[in-house]
Amino acid sequence: MSHINVRGFVLRDQPVGDADRLISVLTADHGLITAAARGARRQKSSLLASTQIFALSQFQLFQNRGRYTVDSAELDESFQGLHKDIYRLICAAHLAEVFIDLLKDDLPDKTAYELWGRAVNEVNRGQEPLLSIHVAQLRLLEHAGLKPPFELCSHCHGSVKAPALFSFRDSKIYCGSGCRSRSAGPSMLLSSGSLACLEHIFSSPLSRLFSFSLSDEIKQEVICFSDRWLTIQMEKQYTRLAMLQDLD
Ligand SMILES: [Zn+2]
Repeated sequence: MSHINVRGFVLRDQPVGDADRLISVLTADHGLITAAARGARRQKSSLLASTQIFALSQFQLFQNRGRYTVDSAELDESFQGLHKDIYRLICAAHLAEVFIDLLKDDLPDKTAYELWGRAVNEVNRGQEPLLSIHVAQLRLLEHAGLKPPFELCSHCHGSVKAPALFSFRDSKIYCGSGCRSRSAGPSMLLSSGSLACLEHIFSSPLSRLFSFSLSDEIKQEVICFSDRWLTIQMEKQYTRLAMLQDLD
């Protein structure tokens, strides 16, 4: 039994019983923590805002046999932009699902913590919430060891020149010369702009990860690639972003 003090982002809040919440909190030093917040859904609860989805709060937790309970919590930032705009909210909910699926409970992960912090700021207030979550999810997949091969051609081993063909069936990339005919199954063409963007996403310091702009065409390519790479790597259909089409 012990008490710990942690700062973290609420990535999921599940209602339990009449007034409780079970929250998943992303922290730097303890990774993803699941904690019970008793009475947190009561209007007068001191935990109402600080344990709400996407809040960044300072938590005092009680730990007993691997289970956490929230003793108290102080709200640092509620990211109101997400709660006022359904488009941004759906984007953030999708990214939170990806983070929860990829992160291991209770393992320290400062990179994932910083990545979420920067991404949620972009989704909260930035110009390109949808592109931002795709950039963040590709970087998180890379961080989790699931980076797509895209530097060298899988057939001739030369540097990849655009337009390159990425095969999703065997997770290989083929350069723009004769090698493209080696690919089989579901695939997509990647232009030089998309290849440069992917290189930036996988190698940029996190502080500059979101500092770039793309033409609409390249943006669509990168989003499409990110979408398909995530589905194949996680062997799961993520359905939240489909709701964005109903908003248009
Ligand atoms: Zn080649």
